[in-house]
This record gives sequence, C-alpha cells and structure tokens, in this order.
Amino acid sequence: MHRMTSPQARRMRRPVLQAAIDAGAKCVQADPDFFFRADGEPPATWQAQRAEAIGFCHGCPVRAACEELALRDGDGNDRVDDMVRGGRSGYELVALRELQAQRLAAAITADEASDQEWIKLTTLA
Ligand code: SF4
Repeated sequence: MHRMTSPQARRMRRPVLQAAIDAGAKCVQADPDFFFRADGEPPATWQAQRAEAIGFCHGCPVRAACEELALRDGDGNDRVDDMVRGGRSGYELVALRELQAQRLAAAITADEASDQEWIKLTTLA
C-alpha cells in the first residue's frame, strides 16, 4: 500500500482520512488496549508499552492519516499520559495541536462545510 505523508493527510477531508485508515490500519487486528494505559498501570510498565505502541504505529502505512484525525478529534490530554494514537503519545498530540491550531481550525471548518454539502446533495437525491 502507498504510504501517505503528513502533507497529503493535511489536505484531505475527514471521510477520506477515515477511509484510508479503514483500508490500511496496521492495528486492525491488534488489541485496542495495547494503545491505552490500564487503570493503575505503573509508569515504568506504561512507558515501555507506550514506546512499543509508538514503534508499532511508525510501521503503519496510514500513520499520517491517523495522526491527522487524532489532531482534528482533539485526542490527548496534557495532564494524563495514557494513550497512543497515530504514532503519538497524548502529550505529543496536545503539543502538536497547539503548534498547528490555526491550520487545524481551518481543516475542521472545511470538514464541517463538506459534511453540509454532502447532506444537501443526499437530500436533493
Ligand atoms: S497509526 Fe497506529 S493507531 Fe493509527 S491506524 Fe496505524 S497502527 Fe493503528
């Protein structure tokens, strides 16, 4: 499968990003818990698991699409280190979202406008 780049993912609308993930996610058969810290999991255990999950994601052909959707979805938390998505920890997603706030706001607005167009088209049909 063609490996998507971040610049390509940033230009895509949400349904296209989601379709790419649905078609190419490396984690499709992975245990979803692999990407999340369990309640009460000790920091050292979680740090090892987090590193493994990030490494796993970096071998995923749709990592860029997954990261982009995670950013648009507002995933991550700067107070709780408990997840990995798109090859990024929750902390990293928060930091990237802050750095790219203007671009992401425009992308989210464009996604919403595209949804509205689609609703109008399906109503007409
Ligand atoms: S980047 Fe990671 S979490 Fe996202 S689809 Fe790929 S393997 Fe799954």
